[in-house]
Amino acid sequence: MNCHLCQKNPTKAVIILQHGALCKSHFLHYFEERVFKTINKYRLIERNDRLCVAASGGKDSQTVLYLTKKYLENYKIPATLEALAIDEGIDGYREKTLVDLKQFCKKLNVPLTIVSFQEALGKPLDEAYPLVNKDTKKKPCNVCGVWRRYLLNKYAKQKGATKVVTGHNLDDEAQATIMNIFKAHTKLAGRLGPVSGTEELDTFAQRVKPLYFCPEKEVRLYALLKEFQIQFGECPYAREGFRHDIQEMLNTFEHKYPGTKQGIINSFLALMPLLKENKEKEDNQKIKVCNSCGEAANHEMCNACKIKEVLDAAK
Ligand code: SF4
Ligand SMILES: [Zn+2]
Ligand SMILES: [Zn+2]
Repeated sequence: MNCHLCQKNPTKAVIILQHGALCKSHFLHYFEERVFKTINKYRLIERNDRLCVAASGGKDSQTVLYLTKKYLENYKIPATLEALAIDEGIDGYREKTLVDLKQFCKKLNVPLTIVSFQEALGKPLDEAYPLVNKDTKKKPCNVCGVWRRYLLNKYAKQKGATKVVTGHNLDDEAQATIMNIFKAHTKLAGRLGPVSGTEELDTFAQRVKPLYFCPEKEVRLYALLKEFQIQFGECPYAREGFRHDIQEMLNTFEHKYPGTKQGIINSFLALMPLLKENKEKEDNQKIKVCNSCGEAANHEMCNACKIKEVLDAAK
């Protein structure tokens, strides 16, 4: 099939989208425009921002890092940009993506900081998870997610970042929305949407998601066409989590009923103002400071310290 926009010079399409087939150059342009429109519409980036990109070296984080830099250059925005990566300590997986990330940041001339679970919390995930699991039955992704969010927030704040830019794509957000509904975690809705976290509270760094409307397969194609150096293997724990089952279910639905994931996101966006209003009211009443580490917490002790406490007791 040929690109529907290249009428005079028929060019082979690289993807078929709902509105027609696109060749490489038209797809790259379409993809970048959508990301830039998302940034503009939701005001994800402002002139005085100090941006910290949460990077891992995978396709999403390389794409979001590259396009954030391109956006700043195209629109001549003087915001500063750096990358922060968390090394969870997942043998045979993370060290490879971090090699790619270091090269990528060097090429883009973006400063990179890497913080590891080992140095910040005392153990790599591979060692911490089985010990924590014995007492709490927590899956690797639960431990990983809590600690990674904790460290990203802590170090981004230490760097004076005004925003943390993440590579969450449309698939990630549709999955997270359904996960929250299935588990009745309605309070976590504040973490969803193109902008999450609360600007007024300096306890949590605000997160912005320029790839919010980009389906995963389009991010993958973009990274491939741009020839980013990327490992396409997945984390060895990825199949153990609840998210994996939701992902499979949504992929089956999307295949059978195209537009399902976009539909979930549209429904969420329609409800978002109400959900966020509720969440902010609750946050303002409830946010405390962890009595162990001094970071923001919903209880006396933050979730990261609770896991650490279980881990210390298991030694
Ligand atoms: S799949 Fe789970 S364990 Fe692996 S990096 Fe993601 S959250 Fe962490
Ligand atoms: Zn074309
Ligand atoms: Zn704490």
